[in-house]
Formats: sequence, structure tokens, C-alpha cells
Amino acid sequence: MNSSRRSTRPVRARAALAALSVWIGLTAAPAQAAWVSRAVDGIMGTRIYVELWAEEEDRARGEQAIDAVMDEMRHIDETMSVYKPTSEVSQVNALAAQQPVKISSELFGLLSTAIEYSRITEGAFDITYASVGYMYDFRARTRPSEPQIQAALPAINYRHLLLDAAASTVRFSQPGVRIDLGGIAKGYAVDRGIEILQARGFTHALVNAGGDSRVIGDRFGKAWIIGIRHPDHPGQVIVRLPLTNTAFSTSGDYERYFDEGGVRYHHIIDPHTGHSASKVRSATVIAPTATRTDGLSKTAFVLGPEEAMRIYNGLGDVDAVLVTPDGRVLYSKGLEPAAPAKRASP
Ligand code: ADP
Ligand code: MG
Repeated sequence: MNSSRRSTRPVRARAALAALSVWIGLTAAPAQAAWVSRAVDGIMGTRIYVELWAEEEDRARGEQAIDAVMDEMRHIDETMSVYKPTSEVSQVNALAAQQPVKISSELFGLLSTAIEYSRITEGAFDITYASVGYMYDFRARTRPSEPQIQAALPAINYRHLLLDAAASTVRFSQPGVRIDLGGIAKGYAVDRGIEILQARGFTHALVNAGGDSRVIGDRFGKAWIIGIRHPDHPGQVIVRLPLTNTAFSTSGDYERYFDEGGVRYHHIIDPHTGHSASKVRSATVIAPTATRTDGLSKTAFVLGPEEAMRIYNGLGDVDAVLVTPDGRVLYSKGLEPAAPAKRASP
């Protein structure tokens, strides 16, 4: 999902910013509040975008707050990435089948949250998907063979994660288990970013990391408008939603994938089969926090639209927009009256 502003705004270089502030000084522009924004590529394998509203005298504080958000994102990447051999998660994957591994309270908390989402989604969200998932490389167009999948499949089960709160350790109940927080760490990072901005007194802001976003406040008394893209046509928006004070995540089968022999192999894995989960093309989830929307946005791919909507509608604080393989757009109960279902053009 793109915020409508994010898609058009270039990455802002520090040099350009410095030049701009000099220019403002020279022309003695009247004091004005403004949106301060920045996009940084390459953190958590994606682009991080932060935008906040700052009064003129708070501009510098706004820039510092964005620095702090980016630092926090880098810290989460260092801790949680499976692509960094030194990360805590990589250490867990290397050792936890042999012994309990002591972990930070932050990682312990996120593992507990991940397990909570496995329970809520009846096993559709499962960070041990990586026991098979690590054999896929969508950029290199490689995937595991059927015998490889079958051999590794028993290791996928969130119940294999044994957490000891008193000792702050995690252990795997059997060999072959791997975890990957790619399905929840960005949502968590977005929430941390928003907390940092709120703690510094900012009340109108957007933080986005890949498919996960959260907004606080509104934009000049109006909602933030977010667009859900067509699964096959990146430039085409099939639904626009006005949102304030909420988080939203979109998962799509068009994010990381390759097509082979008429089959799309993509990055959301069905924990029951070890294959890509294809019961919807995209799922957008709206809820108070981005950890929650991230933890729930993979569910519809695995369980299908009906089962997923039953779960979303039952949670009370969650809404969703799903695009099915045959192009239908389905809305959760809370969105139905405002936005009647329509068909996406092929
Ligand atoms: P984004 O990374 O753009 O936010 P998603 O929120 O859709 O995209 O997350 C996709 C990622 O979730 C995958 O790249 C993978 O790391 C992870 N993942 C894939 N399948 C599952 C699953 N069944 N349960 C939990 N995480 C998963
Ligand atoms: Mg996500």
C-alpha cells in the first residue's frame, strides 16, 4: 500500500535540506508550520518513510525525531534480521534446537506477540514458516523440491517455540525449526516509530515500512487517504480509504515472487503445506497498531477470504479489504456500508 504522498515524494538528501534552510534564512520567509518528511532506503530490506507536522520553531526537533525513528528501525533490523548472521534472531536459529538461548526482553516480547497471532489466526501466521521458507529465494527464482518441503514441514509449528519468561530464553522443541520475523517486525518497528514521535509531542504523523503503516492525527482536519493497488497493475488504485489515527498493512502476492510453469511462487507461505499461499491476491488490514495489522495481513492468503473475514470480524477492532483471485473486492463488516463490494477490472 502506498500513502498517496509517499509515491510521489523523492528521497530527500541532507545536502538539499541544508541548502533549503539557508535559502529560507536568506529570503526571510514568514514563520510557518510544515510537514517534515524523509525516506530512507535499505533498512529492513525496504524503504522507511516518516512524515510529521511541525510548527516552525519545532522543525529542527522534527528532523531529530525522524533521526531517532530511523535509528530505532536500524536497531530492530540489527536485532531481528535473519540476513544478518550477528542478529539475535540468527543466534536463536543457530542454537535454540540444542539449548535454551537467552534473549533480550524486546525479542522475547515480540516472540510472545508472534505466538499470540498464531493462536488468533488459527495457525495461519506462524514465524516457524521459515523452517521451509528459508529454502525459497524469490530474487534468484529458486524454491525447494517437494521432497525437501516434506522433510522440513514437521518443523513448522509455533508450538515448537518454548519460551521461559523467568529466564528470558527461547528453545526449539526439535531440530530443523527456524524462525523469521519478516511478517511482523516491520509492523512492530512502525509502532516503535510512532511511540518515539508521540513521546516527543508530535501529534500528526505517518510512519511507513514496506507494507506496514500507521498514522496519528489527521491532515489539516481531513483524513489520510490510502490507496489499495490493483494486484496486476501497480499504477492502478482499486480502493481509496480515508483513515485517521490507525494502522494498516497490505500483503500482496506481487511483492516478492517469480512465476514458473503458470504458478506464482511468492513470499507468503502456508504453514500447513510449505507452498505459497494463494487464496487471495491481496489483503489490507486496518487496526489500532501496526504490529496487529502486520500479524493479521497474511491470514487471508492461508485461510481464504471467508475464514479470514470470520476472524477479522470477530476481533472487534479490525477491518479488512481483500482482493480475491477472481478479482472481487471484499470488505469486512465495519467497511461494508461505506464501500459496497465491486469487481476489480482484470
Ligand atoms: P512486508 O514485508 O512488505 O510487510 P508482509 O507483511 O506481507 O510483507 O510479510 C511477508 C513476509 O512475512 C514474508 O516475506 C515472510 O518473511 C513472512 N511470512 C511468510 N509467510 C508467513 C506466515 N505464514 N506466517 C508468518 N510470517 C510469514
Ligand atoms: Mg508487513
